Amino acid sequence: MKYLVILALVLAVIWLWQGKRRASLAEKARKQQQPQASSKGRALQTTEVIACDVCAVHMPLNEALTGGRGVYCSEAHRRQAES
Ligand SMILES: [Zn+2]
Repeated sequence: MKYLVILALVLAVIWLWQGKRRASLAEKARKQQQPQASSKGRALQTTEVIACDVCAVHMPLNEALTGGRGVYCSEAHRRQAES
């Protein structure tokens, strides 16, 4: 009977320890996910805008065409400026 009580205590301690560990792991995962999400949001907000060297139209940097002498809004303006 004494051993049963000790066994129950040991099991209870293990169960509590695992519950705590699971909670701290979940918290760690949440903390790791949060900075990634906020940095993604920041990257979207700070899209760089650049002006075409021919017509000065502004566009996001990822949509601009890069030529040998500058950046352009379209293939036509790149040809016009560089030919
Ligand atoms: Zn242009």
